[in-house]
Amino acid sequence: MKPFDFYAPTTVDEALELMHKYQDSVSVIAGGTDLVLELNEYKATPAVVIDLKKIKELNYIRVEDGVFRIGAMATHASLAADQAVKEKVRILHDATRQVGSPQIRNLGTIGGNIAQSSVAGDGLAACVTLNADVTLRSVRGTRTMSINDFLAGEGAQKRNILAADELLTEISFPVPDTKHTATAFYKLAKRKSLAISVIGGGMVVTVDDNGVCTHASMRGGALGRYPMHFADCEALLVGKKLSYAAMLETLPIMHDQILEANRSRPWSVFYKKEGAQGVFKKLFADILGQLGIEEVQE
Ligand SMILES: Cc1cc2nc3c(=O)[nH]c(=O)nc-3n(C[C@H](O)[C@H](O)[C@H](O)COP(=O)(O)OP(=O)(O)OC[C@H]3O[C@@H](n4cnc5c(N)ncnc54)[C@H](O)[C@@H]3O)c2cc1C
Repeated sequence: MKPFDFYAPTTVDEALELMHKYQDSVSVIAGGTDLVLELNEYKATPAVVIDLKKIKELNYIRVEDGVFRIGAMATHASLAADQAVKEKVRILHDATRQVGSPQIRNLGTIGGNIAQSSVAGDGLAACVTLNADVTLRSVRGTRTMSINDFLAGEGAQKRNILAADELLTEISFPVPDTKHTATAFYKLAKRKSLAISVIGGGMVVTVDDNGVCTHASMRGGALGRYPMHFADCEALLVGKKLSYAAMLETLPIMHDQILEANRSRPWSVFYKKEGAQGVFKKLFADILGQLGIEEVQE
């Protein structure tokens, strides 16, 4: 590890001033579960490290005027344990409760997961499926955007639009109406714990009072640079009466999309396309069960 200067501010404003001052070579550290490995392996060599742990104003999970607001420093453990998240946003509950191990969940934060923008980020995949907004702050001001617009960048390292002196402060999305909307996450990994996703599937479905699908969001984590968007599968569901049979009809489209996107990785494409279909069958059963439409044994 290369030596660095260390700061532990107690307010966001203080952190932003420091980030601005040292922006040529600065890293913020949240839980450190990704960054410490990179420091140890000389993949990150900042001159200055700014610790966010003492900034209490970044650590919250609350509902305000029908909107979930989650501070960047909320840990996976706190999200998994939150009753409102468990009852209203199963996708985030299921994604965060399966991250790594208890130690990783106690340290690792949702903000770190999204800022890292790893292809296998489970919290990231869940928030993308929810089409959550992210709020970024710097000394220049605040900007809030869809997480889908946040994920962009050239080169292997640059996977989002965070500037060097910019902090991800909040993740927000409308509280789902669970009478009509179900959300689910399922992770396929090599082991049950301490394993990153081989495929992490997320799904959000809304139906009207007649059980007709009015909105669908389907994403597959670890299938490409960003959570893969199965837009054609979604389009096939919208307007149809939701059923397991209708959902299964989307799988050939998903199969072809994964095949096309992963042609350059022949060693993994067979597994990925078969695995993703298995993951989505689990999600279909979960969604239908939550909406009380159909019991499917998977
Ligand atoms: C053994 C092990 C198992 C793991 N298992 C999983 C898993 O199952 N699923 C999964 O998704 N991940 C997993 N991870 C990866 C990691 O734990 C998560 O990505 C975690 O959420 C990262 O959060 P953190 O707070 O530790 O981030 P840090 O390591 O502190 O930071 C990560 C990056 O984000 C930046 N950053 C952090 N917070 C902010 C902020 N608020 N604003 C701007 N930039 C910020 C940092 O500068 C750094 O570049 C695992 C890691 C390990 C070591």
